[in-house]
Amino acid sequence: MVVGDVTTGTDVLIIGAGPGGYVAAIRAEQLDLDVTLVEKDAYGGTCLNHGCIPSKALISAADVAYDAGHGEHMGIDADPAVDLSGMIDWKNEVVSGLTGGVEKLCKANGVNLVEGRAEFDGGNTVRVAHSGEGQGSESIEFEHAVIATGSRPVELPGLEFDGENVIDSKGALALDSVPAELVVVGAGYIGMELSTVFAKLGADVTVVEALDGALPGYEDDVARVVKSRAEEIGVDFHFGEAAQGWDESGDGLTLRTENDEGEISEFGAEKVLVAVGREPVTDTLSLDALGLEPDEKGFLVTDEYARTEVEDVFAVGDVAGEPMLAHKGSKEGQVAAEVIAGEPAALDYQAIPAAVFTDPEIGTVGLTEAEAEEEGFEPVAGQMPMRASGRALTLDEPDGFVRIVADRSSGFVLGAQVVAPEASETIAELGLAVEMGATVEDVGATIHTHPTLGEAVMEAAENAQEKAIHTLNR
Ligand code: FAD
Ligand code: NAD
Repeated sequence: MVVGDVTTGTDVLIIGAGPGGYVAAIRAEQLDLDVTLVEKDAYGGTCLNHGCIPSKALISAADVAYDAGHGEHMGIDADPAVDLSGMIDWKNEVVSGLTGGVEKLCKANGVNLVEGRAEFDGGNTVRVAHSGEGQGSESIEFEHAVIATGSRPVELPGLEFDGENVIDSKGALALDSVPAELVVVGAGYIGMELSTVFAKLGADVTVVEALDGALPGYEDDVARVVKSRAEEIGVDFHFGEAAQGWDESGDGLTLRTENDEGEISEFGAEKVLVAVGREPVTDTLSLDALGLEPDEKGFLVTDEYARTEVEDVFAVGDVAGEPMLAHKGSKEGQVAAEVIAGEPAALDYQAIPAAVFTDPEIGTVGLTEAEAEEEGFEPVAGQMPMRASGRALTLDEPDGFVRIVADRSSGFVLGAQVVAPEASETIAELGLAVEMGATVEDVGATIHTHPTLGEAVMEAAENAQEKAIHTLNR
């Protein structure tokens, strides 16, 4: 069908169908608003198509292959053959099941789905250019707009993505064979997750990182556990090396880096994966037509109601600032929809968990001990090493710990840091504790099933009260 130059109207116009946008759309429909959701590429956004879901699928598949091939000490002798294209096919099935589900859910809730690229066009109007030749465009007038256009990978000068030699995470999650030598630039979330995947799949992986350690933003003792395990798996780290550019060499390439002293190093590779952060997508929306200006990093400034400086325009997800995490975007989407519908909703960022799906995983929520001190608390921390957890040993994954940070006088749980198998799951219980204002006494008194990883949470809470049974109290 060729869509002509028609104008329609809607209560809520949402741009971008990622975890921020589609959640806002469904919630707004539940609240009886008329919703139009515009998406230029694929339902589910970065998270479902090129981010969270595909990366976690490949992490799981790489674990199966690696664990099967490294089970001699458990009496398992196997040499699994890895067919990356088969793995990618399976990952694509997982992705299409979920993205199809998002589309169906939106339709079943009554969301009007429009395919195309939206741009503000003055007043309360967006213009949507439909993809494909001759598909035309349409104008949509809105009462309220929600900008949920997400983020894209930062491109380093001299290391522009060409999809062949220099790839981004989207490219890395769609390779059809395991590169013999992979250099990863950046030891942040993506660098650490994907270097582990490719090392487990048999690539010779080198990570170069500009700073002096992996996973900046996480405490040293947390990041150290993950880095040590990655080294055991075969990842070679070079810190204090900023990537500068690359040259062709033989049938591969050479990555150039520079350290603080100005010394140049070279690293040979078949491919270079650049993962040096993501930046918000706000420059393609003609925001000036709304009188809206992003901050110097391109993010839209929002208040506790997810509202921008323009009364009727909201921003959620990666465009609305750090942390650029799917669940943070979804919560913002939900709150934006409720505020638009006149519900008494507001954002509370105190208990947003974060997880890094490395080996072992990291899960954090709330404050660290140092942050608690900075905020004027007198913190007490309780810790339980995973090597004392029966379940961690039976999983053959004894690295890491659970740490719970509480206020010494009241006992309120202020935060937690978990580096352990399934830390991304374990952190949910600790998030609930922070959210509900539970004390370490509440958490320690909660009977946990034996043998489970969750017992380590109970033990850490008891350790904070100097009454842990399975670790020495400090
Ligand atoms: P997006 O998911 O980016 O969606 C934005 C959508 O807007 C896109 O579909 C885009 O096509 C559309 N769009 C943009 N401009 C327009 C326009 N003008 N018109 C119409 N449509 C438009 N987060 C986690 O919490 N956990 C994880 O495990 C995790 N893993 C990740 C792994 C990788 C490799 C990457 C890259 C990211 C990961 N993230 C993870 C981050 C997560 O993907 C993002 O935080 C999340 O997708 C942000 O959601 P969003 O709705 O703000 O934007
Ligand atoms: P990041 O910010 O986590 O890490 C980027 C790293 O690159 C930093 O350590 C930085 O010091 C380094 N770096 C920057 N310039 C460099 C250079 N020239 N040479 C060498 N190193 C350099 O960014 P990312 O890993 O690209 O991930 C982007 C975002 O995606 C994350 O911040 C997160 O919000 C999201 N994400 C989340 C998850 C998760 O929740 N599990 C997983 C993947 C991505």
